[in-house]
Amino acid sequence: MRVKLWGVRGSLATPMSSALLREKARLLLSEATPGDLKSPQAIEAYLDRSSHSWTYGGNTSCVEVELDNQTFILDAGTGLRSLGLKLKEDGRDLSHQLHFFFTHFHWDHICGFPYFGPIYIPDRQIDVWSGRSDALRLLQTQMNDAHFPVKWEMLKSKIDCHQIAEDVPTAIGDATVRILPLIHPDKAYGYRIDHRGRSVCYLTDTEVSKNPNRVAESYASFVEGADVVIVDAMYGFLDYHDHINFGHSTIFNFIDFFRDAKIGELVIFHHDPMASDPQVTRLYMDAKRYTELVAPTASWTLSAAREGQEWMLPPR
Ligand SMILES: [Zn+2]
Ligand SMILES: [Zn+2]
Repeated sequence: MRVKLWGVRGSLATPMSSALLREKARLLLSEATPGDLKSPQAIEAYLDRSSHSWTYGGNTSCVEVELDNQTFILDAGTGLRSLGLKLKEDGRDLSHQLHFFFTHFHWDHICGFPYFGPIYIPDRQIDVWSGRSDALRLLQTQMNDAHFPVKWEMLKSKIDCHQIAEDVPTAIGDATVRILPLIHPDKAYGYRIDHRGRSVCYLTDTEVSKNPNRVAESYASFVEGADVVIVDAMYGFLDYHDHINFGHSTIFNFIDFFRDAKIGELVIFHHDPMASDPQVTRLYMDAKRYTELVAPTASWTLSAAREGQEWMLPPR
């Protein structure tokens, strides 16, 4: 299993502004020593180790899970466009089975779909899975006349939508897929994908503070044994209290829930579009400190999702 993040931002795509780019350039230049700039190789090495040479990224939710000859895609936010280009470059747009899994159908999770190259390939089979029965109607709606120039009926690919049952695992090829109802306006579902002894969980968008006692146990048992667990951690602890009922969480709840869970890595995801890179880093540092205080024996590591972040998970 290989897992790669193509879009990690919540709610709205957030391109970096000139002001923020200039701030990064200023920090890079002011921290460089003459030795860092003495050759192209030295510059590359400096850029590799500097914390100012990258960004968390501004594309909305999209996660790739590659399993042998299948590509699973969790949500179709704006990050999907680049994934589509990569599939074409690799030839996977023709050779791989393509399966989408939607948590829900809010804009930030679907608006990359019309820009996904394989939907324009004649007879290309694409399967769409979700916990809802009306996925087809919801995807068609965003491509009606008023919203997009290409109508759904004009697509030459074969797109089949399927509803996943809540209580039973679903076999797709060699993989097993489970869903978990989340706490979000108009419903959302989290996913767990297991394949050859490896697993990834994807739990966005959800507001766990609304009912932490009820969800703690079910979330912890859902993720038990997973290698990578990606969660909605849009807000900081205090910030959350200005956004009650928005349908999102803080990482601190998940740290509490998963204190004793056997998981590999817990990933802060669905970053607030209002948060700059330093603000996301600050949230990550606070979460690390909180983990040291409340879960000092936790077996997992913590990270803040970054576009391009990737996990290679060989079968076991
Ligand atoms: Zn969202
Ligand atoms: Zn949402």
